Amino acid sequence: MARAGEGAPALVLKAGREKSLLRRHPWVFSGAIERADARAQAGDTVAVRTNAGAFLAWAAYSPQSQIRARAWSWAEHERIDGQFFVARVRAAIARRAGLASAANALRLIHGEADALPGVVCDRYDEVAVFQFSSAGAERWREAVVDAVLVQGGCRVAYERSDLDVRALEGLAPRSGRLRGELRGPTVAIVEHGLKYRVDVADGQKTGFYLDQRANRDRVRVLAGGRDVLNCFCYTGGFSLNALAGGARSALSIDSSAAALALARENAALNGLDHGRAEWLEADVFAALRTLRDQGRSFDLVVLDPPKFAPTAGHAEKAARAYKDINLLALKLLRPSGVLVTFSCSGGVSPELFQKVVAGAAADAEADVAVLERLQADVDHPVTLAFPEGEYLKGLVLEKR
Ligand code: SAH
Repeated sequence: MARAGEGAPALVLKAGREKSLLRRHPWVFSGAIERADARAQAGDTVAVRTNAGAFLAWAAYSPQSQIRARAWSWAEHERIDGQFFVARVRAAIARRAGLASAANALRLIHGEADALPGVVCDRYDEVAVFQFSSAGAERWREAVVDAVLVQGGCRVAYERSDLDVRALEGLAPRSGRLRGELRGPTVAIVEHGLKYRVDVADGQKTGFYLDQRANRDRVRVLAGGRDVLNCFCYTGGFSLNALAGGARSALSIDSSAAALALARENAALNGLDHGRAEWLEADVFAALRTLRDQGRSFDLVVLDPPKFAPTAGHAEKAARAYKDINLLALKLLRPSGVLVTFSCSGGVSPELFQKVVAGAAADAEADVAVLERLQADVDHPVTLAFPEGEYLKGLVLEKR
């Protein structure tokens, strides 16, 4: 009897390079590969085999990328077809069944952690926004979109595959409508009782930073009676929570005029657009220095910068940037003040991030205690086999 997958193009590993796949890490790097079947095209499903020919996994082939293949399945009997993606989407949605109560905005598919490498889907009310970042994800795009619309009960599908990483796969950026029509320029969502307008067409990422949901709620609790500085505020998430939590004032800084315009709109939507809120369009690195020179001080500072280090190769430069803003923030903090500081760089580990912030504290001559460690909210799961998925880490620090 012929073995399943016998006719499929094979990707044969070098001797001894099967360990990470056996541990169910989904990526096969180019350096591990001895030979690839000449028939295999970008996005094709290949059978990854040990040097001796044993089956390891079904994977999507990315001939142009250093991540040469991403595993779909470790089961040799499984067929990678439309039904396979229906089942994977169903599992991802089912996993989140109990989570929808906090918000009508939820990450439905979180790539590798949902066994769908290269696929992200964020749901904003009835709109599903997709990012396809690998050749394999691109190949199965239609099947994934249809499965989410049917099983997630969404009316509209929109694509935001305008990601830099697509270039590494030889894919051009792409964004726009996939199914249905948006009803207006923004989608209304509610998160922990606060209303936001999300710009899925022109906003950052898929329109909103859902990963910070629980941490925004945390800041609401911490902000009561405090003067708050929210750096990299985007559309106002942490600021609105601070104000809703009874902050005395909130100064919010972002370099994007479009983000600030929406932040103001969001504040008004929640009746939080009164004298306590101040919005500043500026570069945070410069603005922190200006605030220092003006002798300003705060009781709570939030630092949620963009990804400074997409990969470990950028870690050193990123570390300098993290140190700079954390040092300045600690100096702006009054005694007993709280710093809530994040890194969303996949290339910076939680250990390195804490080390960098410790260096900033030392330079600021501040005694600092760790009150809490934060991570992405539960709709952004991390699997044990793929610790790289733990990109977002945060520290709640008290300046003594
Ligand atoms: N905390 C936000 C998400 C922040 S995303 C939330 O909860 O929704 C990072 C933000 O940093 C983006 O809005 C981006 O416009 C802004 N940004 C990037 N570089 C910046 C810089 N040098 N100075 C100020 N803002 C910057």
